[in-house]
Amino acid sequence: MSKINIFWFRRDLRFADNTALYYALQEKLPVLPIFIFDLNILEDLENKQDARVEFIQNTLSEMNQKLKAQGSKLKTFYATPSEAFHELSNEHEINSVFTNRDYEPSAIARDNEIEAFLKKREIKFYTFKDHVIFEKEEIVSGGGTFYKVFTPYSKVWLAKYTLQRPTVLPYALKTKNWHQVPHEEIHTLEEIGFQSTEISIPADDLNEALISKYDQLRDFPAKDATSRLGIHLRFGTISIRQLAEKAASINKTFLNELIWRDFYAMILANNPKVVDHAFKTQYEQIPWLQDEEGFKKWCAGKTGYPIVDAGMRQLNQTGFMHNRVRMIVASFLTKHLLIDWRWGEAYFAEKLLDFDLASNNGGWQWAAGTGTDAQPYFRIFNPASQTEKFDPELKYIKKWVLEYGTPSYPKPMVDHKFARQRALDTYKAALANN
Ligand code: FAD
Repeated sequence: MSKINIFWFRRDLRFADNTALYYALQEKLPVLPIFIFDLNILEDLENKQDARVEFIQNTLSEMNQKLKAQGSKLKTFYATPSEAFHELSNEHEINSVFTNRDYEPSAIARDNEIEAFLKKREIKFYTFKDHVIFEKEEIVSGGGTFYKVFTPYSKVWLAKYTLQRPTVLPYALKTKNWHQVPHEEIHTLEEIGFQSTEISIPADDLNEALISKYDQLRDFPAKDATSRLGIHLRFGTISIRQLAEKAASINKTFLNELIWRDFYAMILANNPKVVDHAFKTQYEQIPWLQDEEGFKKWCAGKTGYPIVDAGMRQLNQTGFMHNRVRMIVASFLTKHLLIDWRWGEAYFAEKLLDFDLASNNGGWQWAAGTGTDAQPYFRIFNPASQTEKFDPELKYIKKWVLEYGTPSYPKPMVDHKFARQRALDTYKAALANN
């Protein structure tokens, strides 16, 4: 058995500017790249037509073709990570495993388990920062504690970024250091129990002309004025460092949104409890309504509030929803309907192509008032005035709610004034009990 190193792809599916991959290929030993179609994750996905799984499989398949040209292959597993590493370490003499860090609590637990397994076999496990610009302990206040509010965090982030631009690493495909093995295909979608979908994935390149007007147009959902790069940042088919460099030179507001992404990754890494608890503990006491009928109407886009319904239908049909509308529908669910943010968060997790635990959780807790928002809970979006401001010609609404203005469009499921007052009273009482 010849000695090799392993590179483990996870949310970094690219050859360009991939930190751990770059360092793995700098070593003397040949590198075998692997990907694990993780049974623990895939079995939890109820819908077996999932555009994200299809996207991963397609991306890996293209990468495998590129590796073929280098005399190598991408080895895939349909197994749990511990089964995969068991098999790998029986088949190869492995010196080290290289991978990029993932900050989700379940990923951290997985990596700890794998690291312990490898240690027993005297295999080293090296992890690298790749998914974010700055990690959880890199942006801290003078007193050394992490920030709980975005604005001061973003100022320190920007100052540090200006001083220490992270290096963009060279493209890693063209090297002689890949493990030279007979080529084989990766697992097909069918082999991992999934089917293809009709959903199309946005391109992975930044439309620079469009982004140059991001600050002016990003809030209007009828305009195609945002990058649509969410899914690529989620699965690492683009590099955050390369994107941030472009953002810094094209549009500062766009860069600010990338800072939000780092911020929520930092919040999750420092507070893993936010996965199922309010970031602000005093908000744990809100008596959410167990309104399953109301929730169903919200999911289906049948609330009778056109901007909410348009958003939910865009999500259901395309796997995307405009950010402004995400805020409106999330505020509506948690404030107008007084339904637990965790229900909405789970629905988004199932549907969003760009679903990312840290940003989704952060966005939901922000909207529910339980999170890092500096504003108190009494900011309740008024769907009508949001529509006047951001969809004044009703273009977005008419695009997604085809029966808008006809008798078949439902009446509002709850009165705005009543719902607003009920939310204020409920939140106030819950906080007073603390
Ligand atoms: P652009 O506007 O072009 O922004 C570029 C990138 O910056 C995004 O792709 C994303 O990576 C990042 N970004 C932008 N806004 C935010 C933000 N507010 N918070 C964190 N990162 C941001 N974003 C996700 O990536 N995954 C999610 O699961 C997710 N769930 C959300 C849930 C709610 C309730 C809310 C209010 C927001 C959520 N967001 C989420 C943030 C934001 O809505 C999306 O990132 C954005 O709409 C994606 O579209 P885009 O790629 O065109 O983004």
